[in-house]
Amino acid sequence: MLIYKEASISGPWILWFICTLLSLLHGVISETSRALDIMTKYPLIDGHNDLALRLRIQYKNKLSQLNPHNIPKLATDITRLTAGHVGGQIFAAYVLCTAQDKDAVRLTMEQIDVIRRLCTENQELELVTTAGGMRNSAKIACLISVEGGHSIDSSLPALRMFYQLGVRSMTLTHTCNTPWAESSSRLYPYYQRKKNSLTEFGKAVVNEMNRLGMLIDLSHTSWETARAVLKHSTAPVIFSHSSAHAICNDTRNVPDDLLLLLKENGGLIMVNFYNRFVACSKEADVSILADHFDHIKEVIGAESIGIGADFDGANGFPQGLEDVSKYPALIGELMSRNWSEEELAGVLRLNFLRVFQEVEKVRDDMSNTLPSEVEIPFLEANNSCRVILTHPVISSERSYRNRNSPLLPATALAWFISGFVQLI
Ligand SMILES: [Zn+2]
Repeated sequence: MLIYKEASISGPWILWFICTLLSLLHGVISETSRALDIMTKYPLIDGHNDLALRLRIQYKNKLSQLNPHNIPKLATDITRLTAGHVGGQIFAAYVLCTAQDKDAVRLTMEQIDVIRRLCTENQELELVTTAGGMRNSAKIACLISVEGGHSIDSSLPALRMFYQLGVRSMTLTHTCNTPWAESSSRLYPYYQRKKNSLTEFGKAVVNEMNRLGMLIDLSHTSWETARAVLKHSTAPVIFSHSSAHAICNDTRNVPDDLLLLLKENGGLIMVNFYNRFVACSKEADVSILADHFDHIKEVIGAESIGIGADFDGANGFPQGLEDVSKYPALIGELMSRNWSEEELAGVLRLNFLRVFQEVEKVRDDMSNTLPSEVEIPFLEANNSCRVILTHPVISSERSYRNRNSPLLPATALAWFISGFVQLI
């Protein structure tokens, strides 16, 4: 009797439980399949990936020693990029700030080399350098970005040569100030400054990037530098991997007033997935990540948003979004929050392509402008590795002295005079 009574009470409840579970499951399955459908139609262009950094750290850039289709130690490989419906990836050529004023240019070239090799030696990938190339690629299009202005060693010719190698975007700083722009981080002691967040030479870098048609990337810069660039640049800019400061108050994220300036500029913020920037914590989930998208949409509209996950650039990503195969989980979450197909198509790729095309239009409008010959003032990039080339005898003597002592203004003046005397 007791058994019968229990069964009569629990029966409807079990039925209700199963029905609820099935309907929830159906919702999840249909959202996932809708997410996959939309991503098939609009394959993702992701703004920032640090695979090249991991290739250096773990494989010394020796591609022969790994299978790019399956790199279980990392968050990125070709098989998972394909599974994640990635149609375009901006790969960062990044070298540590400790290389600033040392061999940053050489190291950056080596990072560009490994990205170029990866993207030309594997048939699923294609190296592209234009918005049209990215739009029309039937493969996973690779675009190269230099991460950190320290990579150009305060030289516009070096910037132009990076462009020649296929670089189409540069983050103005990483976690260190450069002699001409300020970082959001105080991690390194280089070039500490009060105000003057974008020097005259910094403005020349911005102008030259506008002229070349390179995307200016403000992720990692200080807010002051970002404001100065937004005021100065004639082309739209991007934050390739930053999130919303209103949701997580880290200085790497973008505050609302900057978002509004970005909107005016016609630029794009590509949201970073790293837990520390998403939840200001070691743990995060897809829901709080989606809160960043909702917030930015509310402030400046869905047409200003993209995705820049930062995979392989950090440790700790939201549960269910641990590698490049997992993007559909985010799209499913945004669908459940009533993001329309049009909005998601923009977030996935069309917004980035629009901005890149606009950057190219500015380049075309400036086609009559000659390459800039602006040099950084000598004392602003004063470091022990910088050699001023004059007479061979003098320059070798300077190189020797440079290795041993920092250049002081008086020494610089003495060298200039002695060089002048030698030449006449
Ligand atoms: Zn970064």
